[in-house]
Amino acid sequence: MKKVLDKLYKTNSLSKDQLIYILNNLDKSLQNYLFQLARDTTIKIYGNKVFIRGLLEYSNHCKNNCMYCGIRRDNKNVDRYRLSEEEILLSLEEGYKIGYKTFVLQGGEDLYFTDDIFESLILKIKKQFPDVAVTLSIGERSYESYDRFHRAGADRFLLRHEVANVQLYNELHPGMNFENRKNCLYNLKKIGYQEGAGFLVGLPGENNEILAENLIFLKNLAPAMVGIGPLIPHPDTPLKDEKVGSAEKTIVMLSLTRLLLPTALIPITTALNTICEDGLERGLMAGGNVVMLNLSPIYVRKKYEIYKNKETRDAHELKTIEEKAKNVGFVIDMGRGDNINFRRNEDGK
Ligand code: SAM
Repeated sequence: MKKVLDKLYKTNSLSKDQLIYILNNLDKSLQNYLFQLARDTTIKIYGNKVFIRGLLEYSNHCKNNCMYCGIRRDNKNVDRYRLSEEEILLSLEEGYKIGYKTFVLQGGEDLYFTDDIFESLILKIKKQFPDVAVTLSIGERSYESYDRFHRAGADRFLLRHEVANVQLYNELHPGMNFENRKNCLYNLKKIGYQEGAGFLVGLPGENNEILAENLIFLKNLAPAMVGIGPLIPHPDTPLKDEKVGSAEKTIVMLSLTRLLLPTALIPITTALNTICEDGLERGLMAGGNVVMLNLSPIYVRKKYEIYKNKETRDAHELKTIEEKAKNVGFVIDMGRGDNINFRRNEDGK
């Protein structure tokens, strides 16, 4: 087994069967070995840095009905909001003053935000904060829309594939289909975004074969970023009686992703931090190197409840992150934090 891990470390590649073999046979000591290999790989490429992003949850309106998500269309208990352009720019300005150089705009698939509105918003953000990287996490749109946003200045795009098993994907996302999700991801890549894919750990029907399929999907797509988080059931969704996804398994998947895609930027996700007090430290020790802190106005934070007891850290809590990172030998980095394959000048050009 150690041999298979060594092969993965050296070649950054394994077959689906070998990945299943690892997942079926990982004991504590091999797991620690895996984490060490993943951490070494991160440090070799990015150093001992944690890249900091500011997250702005601009709307909790959503036309989709994902079975696990607290802001799904059919959840009538959600107090819906959308931020005005002014509120968005003011929140980003607050983050900019603290020193943030990456903004992530995330929301439900809110049709109010037409292509025209997004394009104009991106242009304004880039004009006001020219040295900042703009990341969109706004769901599925056409090639033309993605291209327009990219031309307006959007640098990165997060769109988790959620689960790479077609049948399970289609069951969990009524009215959506995996083929379209996949096309969106390949379109984003073709357009030139630093794109992020990723998946949930602990979905009903999941097994090690499905987890290995997620890894193979990522290996083939080769995204610049990968977000992996445990499922946290929300009481107002059809998955309310499911178990919380395992933190340990999430971290194992994070470390395998690091070894398959050494240059990926891999966040230690809010969901992992929500279910695990030392999630940040454990994630850093296993190949993670990004943290997102919340820039949303305080009055909307509780309303963006995609899962129960969501624990986002406020953008001002940098000191806490700094301390926690330091305890495991990492330092925070407030730069743009581009993927190494997309590095540009510090002035953003
Ligand atoms: N609408 C955009 C999209 O589809 O990419 C972004 C917003 S969506 C709410 C962001 C992520 O939240 C999803 O990719 C999903 O993995 C995660 N999420 C939603 N519900 C969750 C839950 N109950 N537990 C853990 N993560 C969840």
